[in-house]
Amino acid sequence: MINLFTFILGTVIGSFLNVCILRWPQDQSVVKPRSHCPQCGALIKAYDNVPILSYLILKGRCRACGTSISVMYPVVELLTGLFFLLCGLRFGYTLETLKYFVLGSGLIVLIFSDIKFRLLPDQVTIYGTLMGLFLSLKVWVGDDSIRFLISLNQHAQIFFERTARSLADSWAGNYLGSESLYSLLGSLCGALFGGGILFLLGELYYLLRKEEGLGMGDIKMMGMVGAFFGLKLTFVTIMLGSLLGSVIGVIGMLFFGRDMKYQLPFGTFLGIAALILALAGGPILHFLFP
Ligand SMILES: [Zn+2]
Repeated sequence: MINLFTFILGTVIGSFLNVCILRWPQDQSVVKPRSHCPQCGALIKAYDNVPILSYLILKGRCRACGTSISVMYPVVELLTGLFFLLCGLRFGYTLETLKYFVLGSGLIVLIFSDIKFRLLPDQVTIYGTLMGLFLSLKVWVGDDSIRFLISLNQHAQIFFERTARSLADSWAGNYLGSESLYSLLGSLCGALFGGGILFLLGELYYLLRKEEGLGMGDIKMMGMVGAFFGLKLTFVTIMLGSLLGSVIGVIGMLFFGRDMKYQLPFGTFLGIAALILALAGGPILHFLFP
């Protein structure tokens, strides 16, 4: 019963995400005006706005003018529903699940707005990063980023131990508790690392190819993912995203010829990788960093 409820909740959120995907990249409000057919302008009635079902009942066409409706709508609703359901099954009904609902919703908007508009809106990446940092205080960013950094070398160890100790002794430490503070530091490291790696990759690409390969959007997006994931899982996300992008790119070249000029949306692949790792990250990390 609760699983069915979670799935339905996901599809309803997904229906709202569709509005965000269409309006945020064009800097429009997601509240006003009400949803309407882009072709004839007819308002969508509440009974025609039921996630997934309405699309099937209307056979993908507007009730007023018969223009076909993008298949993106039911796909986003179904994907959000499934992701929510899997989060519930994986993490139980805890704050952790809520954290991944937030991350998953943001990622789904990014995945589709990168396909549709080649844009990764700040409304998701900037506020998402802040949400990730905030949630790290309540949900442990559990990959021990700080202890991993400490293990790298002695100078880092001295630096981080001093910083951690003085933070724990400060008012923030008293107020938040040192565990939360450790988690927040891990989240912050993840954000800087994710954004930083993408920035370096972009610069490297520019040096080699003399053209813009990665935008600011990709950098901010990985900052957001890093704030939720911490150091290690962010690294794995970039690896998996690049792998997915290359595999799809090669398949594309085989089918459409060598001079495929169409630039693949990197943000979409990073987003898909992060969705997978939000659910399967634990065992994968355990395998890679035993
Ligand atoms: Zn219409």
